[in-house]
Amino acid sequence: MISVRHVTKTFPTPNGKPLQVLRDINCEIREGEIVSIIGPSGSGKSTLLRVLNLLDPPTSGEIIVDGENILSKGFPVNKHREKMGMVFQNFNLFEHLSVLDNVTLAPMKLHGLSPEQARQEGIEYLRKVGMAEKADAMPSQLSGGQKQRVAIARTLAMRPSTILFDEPTSSLDPTMVGEVQGVIRTLAIDKMTMLIVTHEMKFARDVSTRVFFMDEGVILEEGTPEQIFNHPQLPATRTFVHRIRSLVFDIASRDFDFYDMTSQIKQFCIRHSIPEKMNPITHVVEEMLNLLAQYNKPVHIEVNYSELDYSSSVVILHKGETLSPLERPDSDELAVMIIRGMSKDIQTEPTPEGIKLTFQM
Ligand code: ADP
Ligand code: MG
Repeated sequence: MISVRHVTKTFPTPNGKPLQVLRDINCEIREGEIVSIIGPSGSGKSTLLRVLNLLDPPTSGEIIVDGENILSKGFPVNKHREKMGMVFQNFNLFEHLSVLDNVTLAPMKLHGLSPEQARQEGIEYLRKVGMAEKADAMPSQLSGGQKQRVAIARTLAMRPSTILFDEPTSSLDPTMVGEVQGVIRTLAIDKMTMLIVTHEMKFARDVSTRVFFMDEGVILEEGTPEQIFNHPQLPATRTFVHRIRSLVFDIASRDFDFYDMTSQIKQFCIRHSIPEKMNPITHVVEEMLNLLAQYNKPVHIEVNYSELDYSSSVVILHKGETLSPLERPDSDELAVMIIRGMSKDIQTEPTPEGIKLTFQM
């Protein structure tokens, strides 16, 4: 249904040296497919979406949609953009229009719907994304997740045959990622054709029929989620999907903002869907810091999460010390017991910098 052949995109730059962002893109996307596009930042993912919906025409190559070359002279670009809806990271709602008016504006203007028809359909689309009750609200009254759901309803109202999502959840507070992903999942059940640029690996794995791994302006590897996440063929793909997400804190003095650290760890857990109950990262960190407080030495903390096997760990380096606080006779026994109980495994390793403890969660 969408066939991309040898597409390139080059941008002029101020220093006169053109920047080739898409080098040679080739792919076929069939009706009803849900393709996740993953890859390092700057690899050209957003540019590919913008080229597909002709927000940025490609420099060379062919894009065939439903048998028609959309790059041929005189091709109705606006009709194409309606067929290929786009949902952006930052929602792009009209702030001065109500939720419902945001959804009905384009269908009235471009499809000639009467206000009544547009209103009825608009409410239907808002219902689909769980936002019908907010039809009369203004965007400024909505949370980020709600805004993004309205943006999706607005896109649906144009009755697109394909929707392009450019990191639809990456500007959201982690607590709101789920509701937007939930809406995208319902569209997947309806067999909407979708291309989704995302950093959420778990989501990409669950929702897609195929995954493209982009790197330096090409689709380096493509396959089913099983192939890309469990059996990647190329070293670059392997490195990318095995990558570990980390949070790092260095505590050098008592002025350290512990409250901020705890809240960052909590957000990190929500973002990666690490259940706090079964995976008490914050508790281990807090209990450990209580144990270490009396020594008044710098502490380095890493919270790690592997997107591939969903495992997490906490690394605590107690600088300038050689003894594990868990082994010291003067350590609070109850705290030690709690820490041991909450960890699947604890490795202790002396390093030149200090004693290093790794807690597998
Ligand atoms: P991704 O979405 O994978 O992070 P992008 O497609 O946004 O990557 O960008 C790829 C590269 O193209 C980046 O180096 C970016 O700076 C550059 N780029 C994107 N749009 C433009 C533009 N309009 N003009 C110049 N360079 C651009
Ligand atoms: Mg991007």
